[in-house]
Amino acid sequence: MSKKYELPPLPYAYNALAPFISEKIMQLHHDKHHLAYVNGANAALEKLEKARKGEMQIDTRAVLRDFSFNLGGHTLHSIFWNNMAPEGKRGGAENDQVAIKIREDFGSFEAFKAQFSDAAKTVEGSGWALLLYDKASDQLVLTQVEKQNMMHLPQLHILLALDVWEHAYYLDYLNDRAKYVEQWWNVVNWGDVEARFKAAKL
Ligand code: MN
Repeated sequence: MSKKYELPPLPYAYNALAPFISEKIMQLHHDKHHLAYVNGANAALEKLEKARKGEMQIDTRAVLRDFSFNLGGHTLHSIFWNNMAPEGKRGGAENDQVAIKIREDFGSFEAFKAQFSDAAKTVEGSGWALLLYDKASDQLVLTQVEKQNMMHLPQLHILLALDVWEHAYYLDYLNDRAKYVEQWWNVVNWGDVEARFKAAKL
């Protein structure tokens, strides 16, 4: 019997990120969009299980693609919510391990921020910008995700994820993705990024 994925509760109130991200967006984004990915992943698992039991015929490739898309969405959103925090709970210090590593690997925090922002602004269509820690080469790297189809490379640990699907910003910023990306830096939870970096290094 396949285990079910579950929608994790938002780790703060819906209005906690305002004015940078509105209550309405957070409600829709978490309760509708993220839930749809959780349900989609579970539906795909159920189809795979029924197919194994001979109760249903499926297009395995299509169902696995569906599973990957939805599980990608579930995974990325689960990180994204925790990568943000209300004022006073965002952590972040000059001597955090991840702050030191960012300066080492990107030259300066400003250079990192500019390139990560650029990655987010230039995603073609819907997708994500990610800061990853590549454990094998001990370095931080950036990547873009198209839609939600993630690179499943186990040595790459996601530290920071930014959702640039229109559902993440359209109600607040209309089509101005660049402004959303710039404002988003105000709500980053650096304490969470630091914790993910330390866990990845273990
Ligand atoms: Mn989203």
